[in-house]
Amino acid sequence: MENKKLKKPRGKARLLEGKCISCGARCQSSCPVDAIVMTDAGEPVVSNKKCIGCVKCVKVCPATALEMFFTPEEQKILDELAAQKAAAEPEEELDEEEKKLQALLKKYRGVWVFVEQTEGEAARVSWELMGVGAELAKSLSVDLCGVIIGSDIKKFAVDAFEYGADKVYLLDQPVFEYYRTEPFLDAVCYLIDKYKPEICLMGASGWGRDLAGAVATRVKTGLTADCTGLAVDVRRNLMQTRPAFGGNIMATIMCDKFRPQMSTVRPHVMPLPPRTSGRRGEVVRETFDIAEESIFKKVLDIIWDKKVKDAIDITGAEFIVSGGRGLMGRENFSMLQELADELGGVVAGSRGAVDLGWLPYERQVGQTGKTVRPKVYVACGISGAIQHLVGMQDSEVIIAINRDKDAPIFQVATYGIVGDLFQVVPALTKRIRELKNKN
Ligand SMILES: Cc1cc2nc3c(=O)[nH]c(=O)nc-3n(C[C@H](O)[C@H](O)[C@H](O)COP(=O)(O)OP(=O)(O)OC[C@H]3O[C@@H](n4cnc5c(N)ncnc54)[C@H](O)[C@@H]3O)c2cc1C
Repeated sequence: MENKKLKKPRGKARLLEGKCISCGARCQSSCPVDAIVMTDAGEPVVSNKKCIGCVKCVKVCPATALEMFFTPEEQKILDELAAQKAAAEPEEELDEEEKKLQALLKKYRGVWVFVEQTEGEAARVSWELMGVGAELAKSLSVDLCGVIIGSDIKKFAVDAFEYGADKVYLLDQPVFEYYRTEPFLDAVCYLIDKYKPEICLMGASGWGRDLAGAVATRVKTGLTADCTGLAVDVRRNLMQTRPAFGGNIMATIMCDKFRPQMSTVRPHVMPLPPRTSGRRGEVVRETFDIAEESIFKKVLDIIWDKKVKDAIDITGAEFIVSGGRGLMGRENFSMLQELADELGGVVAGSRGAVDLGWLPYERQVGQTGKTVRPKVYVACGISGAIQHLVGMQDSEVIIAINRDKDAPIFQVATYGIVGDLFQVVPALTKRIRELKNKN
């Protein structure tokens, strides 16, 4: 039977809410038909009438904030065309190697999230990964699975289900009480070999970075570290987006010939999914044959580095007052501390300020520092370089204070104050104090 001749719809570009980083109208410049106008906040508005579906704006967007969308009728045509193409592609057209590869990839199914835990506490990033993992699993129509390895760790299975896992692989043995590379590596590779997941996600913590690299090397697959965006394409490939070339571009990386596809994601990059109390799933209990005597490294005790333990964790703060080179000196950060104290928040800063020794590294926000999502982020004397923006642009409210009205920070700011921070910050602190006293 002859196939119906269908014309491939081109679709229209549209903006994904909350993802635009106001990079400076790259999408607008790329549009050949002037279909994009920019709002005062620096976000594109695409005219459906003018858009010709050329996809140029989608390709240049550094934050993958634009996508193509199709009407249900257009989507139907696309599905039909895909079906026609699949039917028309004779098996013989695939060469032997490609056939072998496809057969191999087909054996891998499921999305895995590794639940990191130390001394009875799970790392929050593991639950954050459950959120994005659930989206990937839904797109692929597979289960989202938690992998929990440790000793006396059953309670984490309940948490994993309530954060979205459908299934949990549990390796609960005294030998796994403390994280050590070798036994965890052996155990994870054993599980991967047995159950063949197509995607493995780990937190980009000390634990996760160590384990992910070792596992990827052992199972001979690719690993993308510090991803900021994860999605799947129609061929079940994981599209792993992360900053590249010094943060000047966002690269989307694929691992299309090997499985599982592995990514690490830093804490606070993905939002924490809502917890559904009482949600349950399937527990798969596994045992791994490994004797303590065969493990070279022994953990005698965990002694927390007091400096690290006592350090303020800016990633958990609801209010952050952040300073940059505009502060002009270390001594001026006490002014930011006063404002932070009034707000019940913490002081952080740009790399510019950290490199000058005005703040310790653990307070640095950005691509090579921490990613934060506070309720309020006050940026004082920070220009808003892309490497800084990627670390704070998901804050609920951003207040920027800068004397340069063209500073890029204003493009992501909810409220912008053009002025001298040495006047604005004390005035803000004073006003907040007055309001608090009044109440
Ligand atoms: C690979 C790589 C990774 C990086 N990682 C990070 C990172 O993790 N985090 C990060 O922050 N940066 C990072 N950077 C550096 C980044 O590119 C910028 O250089 C840095 O963010 C600039 O810091 P700043 O905004 O404090 O300083 P500047 O860019 O010098 O900005 C200072 C701002 O203060 C304003 N100002 C001056 N005086 C006043 C005043 N009295 N009142 C009000 N405003 C005033 C100025 O108008 C200016 O906008 C990275 C760079 C590279 C190449």
